[in-house]
Amino acid sequence: MGERATTEKKGMVLTTPERCKHCGLCLKACPKDAISFAEDINQAGYQYTVIDHEKCIVCGMCYVTCPDFVYEIKAY
Ligand code: SF4
Ligand code: SF4
Repeated sequence: MGERATTEKKGMVLTTPERCKHCGLCLKACPKDAISFAEDINQAGYQYTVIDHEKCIVCGMCYVTCPDFVYEIKAY
């Protein structure tokens, strides 16, 4: 499905929930504890990640950590 835009600041984080495999690496990598799992599952049957837009500082750690390319960083 479509990408979800987040945040203001110096850019935004986009996610593609259908790629998430629920490995949890990005939750550990995020310095702001801004990532959690949704209650819903994606088409592959995994709970996917969601970003707390208030907490996210667009540092890019989730982008560099996720092995399944869930995240993209869009700079303004
Ligand atoms: S960009 Fe940084 S602060 Fe925002 S969700 Fe990803 S790891 Fe967390
Ligand atoms: S690192 Fe990627 S695949 Fe793993 S939980 Fe985070 S978004 Fe999902």
